Amino acid sequence: MDKIMRIAIDGPVGAGKSTIAKAVAERLGFIYIDTGALYRAIGVHCAKNGVDVDDDKATAEHIAGMEADLRLAENGQRVFVNGEDLTDKIRTPEASMLASRVSANPRVRGFLLDLQRSFARDNSVIMDGRDIGTVVLPDAELKIFLTADAEERAKRRYDELAAKGVDTDYEAVLADLNKRDYDDSHRDFAPLKMADDAVLTDTTGNTFEQSVEEIMGIINEKLGK
Ligand code: C5P
Repeated sequence: MDKIMRIAIDGPVGAGKSTIAKAVAERLGFIYIDTGALYRAIGVHCAKNGVDVDDDKATAEHIAGMEADLRLAENGQRVFVNGEDLTDKIRTPEASMLASRVSANPRVRGFLLDLQRSFARDNSVIMDGRDIGTVVLPDAELKIFLTADAEERAKRRYDELAAKGVDTDYEAVLADLNKRDYDDSHRDFAPLKMADDAVLTDTTGNTFEQSVEEIMGIINEKLGK
């Protein structure tokens, strides 16, 4: 069997991590793992069950014995909590904020650590998140930190939400994005930060295709192609 390769992609909200990682994974025949979906699903599950996600103890008690999982389906990755498919409920602005809040809870992070690592044990993966290069896969063969100007990231996120028919406005999206990035970067456990050995890629002004090409260039260089 060929040696497996693990690519970690971290960065702030709306830098294009998931769409770019998905496209690159397809080209390489790697499995794409969206770790944010797990935090989102746990946030949504807690809220649905009346758990106050700012109460670390109550949240920790709620997730004890919980089963969270990502499964590959024909139409992409799906996320399950206790067997319930929550994929269609995790892309709202509320779910984003719930994810950010549960993600500051060390018990939630600990709960998801082994699961995330298990996906990369026997498979070549591209995994995106906030702490993949620093905590989840510190020995990944390649780490990329993907970023772009906040205004451009907010515009992309706003367009995505509008295309899905979510009722919101640009200023609200920008404010949410700045809050989430601030909270993610300043939490005590596994904050969003660039790994020392990551390659910094700024996609400001790029088209989606240009960003994919840039990342493919970095990967091919790493692979010595
Ligand atoms: O990537 P996405 O926007 O779906 O992530 C939602 C939230 O989940 C982030 O704002 C962050 O708080 C949290 N997250 C995290 N660590 C990861 C992935 C996501 O803390 N590896």
